[in-house]
Amino acid sequence: MQPETVTVASGRPARTPGAPLNAPITLASAFVPGGESEYGRFGNPAYDAFERVVGDLEGGRALGFASGIATAAATLSLVRHDATVVIPRHGYNGTTSLVTSGAYEVRLIDPSDTAASVAAFDGADLVWLESPTNPAMEVGDLPTLVAAARESGALVAVDNTFRTPLRDRPLSYGADIVVHSASKLLCGHSDLVLGVLATRDDTLYERLRRHRTLHGALPGALESFLATRGIRTLAVRLERAEANAAALAERLAGHPAVSEVRYPGFGTMVCFVVDDAERAQRATESSRLVTYATSLGGVETTWERRRRMAAEPDTIPAGLIRLSVGIEALEDLWDDITEALQ
Ligand SMILES: *Cc1c(COP(=O)(O)O)cnc(C)c1O
Repeated sequence: MQPETVTVASGRPARTPGAPLNAPITLASAFVPGGESEYGRFGNPAYDAFERVVGDLEGGRALGFASGIATAAATLSLVRHDATVVIPRHGYNGTTSLVTSGAYEVRLIDPSDTAASVAAFDGADLVWLESPTNPAMEVGDLPTLVAAARESGALVAVDNTFRTPLRDRPLSYGADIVVHSASKLLCGHSDLVLGVLATRDDTLYERLRRHRTLHGALPGALESFLATRGIRTLAVRLERAEANAAALAERLAGHPAVSEVRYPGFGTMVCFVVDDAERAQRATESSRLVTYATSLGGVETTWERRRRMAAEPDTIPAGLIRLSVGIEALEDLWDDITEALQ
C-alpha cells in the first residue's frame, strides 16, 4: 500500500463483529495476568495502534516515548557515557543541549557539507542526523551521509520530524534508528507532547524498549490516541501546508523587508531574515492570524524570532523568523504577514 493509505488503514482493531473502528484509549495501570503486559510501564494497548502505524510508515518496529527528546535520550543510552557523538551544529537545540550536557566527545557538523561531515564520522560511536536543520535549514544528502556513517562503524540515527515518513524513510537506506517529535507534524494539532522512534534491528528494539521500561519515559494513552488520530490526516495536511509554504517562500523572497529566505524547496517550514532584529520581533508579536509561538507542525501557522531563545547559537541571524506554515487560506496568511512586517 502507498504511505497515504497506510496513514489511514494501519493500527486498526481486528474487524470482528461489534469491534470499534479506532483503537480505544485504555486507561489502566494494571492488567489481568496472562496477557501481553501486566503493568502499564511495560506496555498498554493504547500504544500499540500508534506504534503500529508509525512502524508501518517508517518500515520498522516503533516505540512510543513521552516526548521527542526522550527518544534522543533512549538513543544515547545505546552508546558509552564518554562516546564520540556527531550532531548537526544547527540541529534541534534541545538535542544539542542534551548531548553537550553529557561527557560525550561532541563533533558538530554542517550536514550540507558532505565531505566535512563524512570526515567527522571517523571513529564516531553515534552519528545523529537532521535535515533540514532547525532553523538554519541546511539540507544534507542523507542517503550518502547515512551510508558513510555506517561504513565508519557508527550507530546512525535520523531525526525525521521535519520530513515525516511520507517524505523520507531513513530506515530504507540504512539508518539504524529514525526518531520523531510526534508533538509536531505527526500529531498536527499542537495539543500534545509525544515522541516515537523506529528501527529494523530486533536487538536495538529490545535495548530501547528496556531503556523505556527502566527509565519510564512512557507515552500517555490519551496522547497515543490523539497522535494516531492526527496521523490519519497527515497526507492532506502536509500537502496543503507544503503548498502554502512554497507560495509564501516565493512571495517573501520578493518582499522589501526580507533580505534572505531559507526554504529548501519542500516541507512546511520557511525561515526568513529581516535585517532589523527589533522589526522581526515586533512583526512576530503583532500578527493577528499567524500565532506568535514556538513549536511547529500544527494546522495553524505560527512564527517566532528564533534568537529570542537563549539556547539558539549566534550563528543564526538575530532577525531570522521561523515560520511554521499551516493549512489556512494562503491569501489570509499573506495579508497578515505583510501587514505585520509593515
Ligand atoms: C520539537 C523537536 C524535538 C523534540 O521533541 P519534543 O517532543 O519537544 O520533546 C526534536 N527534534 C525536532 C526536529 C523538533 O522539532
